[in-house]
Amino acid sequence: MPKTPPPFRIGHGYDLHRLEPIAPDGSGRPFVLGGLPFEHDRGPVGHSDGDALLHAITDALLGALGEADIGQRFPDTDPAHDGADSRIFLDAARRRVDEAGFEIGNLDATVILERPKIGRRKQELRLRLATLLDIDPDRVNVKGKTHEKVDAVGEGRAIEVHVVVLLVRRD
Ligand code: MG
Repeated sequence: MPKTPPPFRIGHGYDLHRLEPIAPDGSGRPFVLGGLPFEHDRGPVGHSDGDALLHAITDALLGALGEADIGQRFPDTDPAHDGADSRIFLDAARRRVDEAGFEIGNLDATVILERPKIGRRKQELRLRLATLLDIDPDRVNVKGKTHEKVDAVGEGRAIEVHVVVLLVRRD
């Protein structure tokens, strides 16, 4: 068994939210991704604001540390999180990374979504995430994909996000 702790830790985060017509026509909340509002007639169903990108990043950070995941830390049975801005989850995870003596080496996210299209706002998303994470934008990447019109994601009824993050131990 090596005595020195590893200088890196990798984390993976995944999230999916159902997309429904915005309330009162359905249960969808206004569409928000990476903390940015998007114009769309559907929005995520969720206990919080349903920001799948911030949820997946939060879980990637907590996962890299080997800590309880977002659902355990912030249960959807807690009325305090009803409609919550998901930045509070991300901030909590970011603090844990800092307290554990790590910083974010880089983060790569894949957003799978039929509509709204995020292509033209990828750079804006990247800058927003870098600001929220307090890191240089060149450490953040956001990719957008469709689900080729098949299954719930492809039919516009859900959004799916995958994130990997590399944590680097500070000296
Ligand atoms: Mg979620």
